[in-house]
Amino acid sequence: MKQPLFIIVAIDGGAAAGKSSTARVLSERFNLMHADTGSYFRALTAEMLRRGVSPGDLPAVRAALADMKLATRIASRSALIEIGGRLIGSEIRSPEVNAAVSHFAAIPELRSVLLEYERGQAAVARERGFRGLVMDGRDIGTVIFPDADFRFFLHADPAERARRREKEGERDAVAERDRIDSSRKTAPLACPAGATSIDSTHMTLQQVIERMASSLAEALGQT
Ligand code: C5P
Repeated sequence: MKQPLFIIVAIDGGAAAGKSSTARVLSERFNLMHADTGSYFRALTAEMLRRGVSPGDLPAVRAALADMKLATRIASRSALIEIGGRLIGSEIRSPEVNAAVSHFAAIPELRSVLLEYERGQAAVARERGFRGLVMDGRDIGTVIFPDADFRFFLHADPAERARRREKEGERDAVAERDRIDSSRKTAPLACPAGATSIDSTHMTLQQVIERMASSLAEALGQT
């Protein structure tokens, strides 16, 4: 089989399903650039809140978006988002951002800014010499890269996911975020048609990683 030069791996799923942790390990194992798009929505949300913009005030959201210059900073294999030359730090995991992010993420104008930015990450990964891109989020396999080489959908029982977040010391209403994310009009959370769906409720993170890694390794001829 001809070795693909550059691969795109899309991982979607609900809140606290283990997407980013899995994607991070895959990025190291296969030399892929990792883009955690949840952190992009969180960074934009934190910046909106810092500017005193509420998700219900569309003109203010539009004006703030027009004023935000987005760029990428690579730290090891992670592609981090910069807004106006600044990385947004730990506040992206704050209870305020947890509570507001799904409301901002439902705004089509905000999504279209990130859609363009996220698609552009493939070129960033190529330029930086990565073998590919692994991107996790809610609409990667459905909207951002529907032709990705690999598309996975991770799900787990909501009670188990809430327990995982609590263990990480975070207050986060995962079921409520899923409800808003699944019911919005633009790019709702959904399992992409034809994606490999994995229920991780009774699996360890390591088992989920191995399951995905074996698909990648097989296709890349690394078994
Ligand atoms: O993945 P994480 O839980 O950090 O995502 C935070 C929020 O960002 C989600 O609840 C969702 O509202 C939004 N999001 C999205 N589309 C993505 C990634 C995240 O709407 N691709």
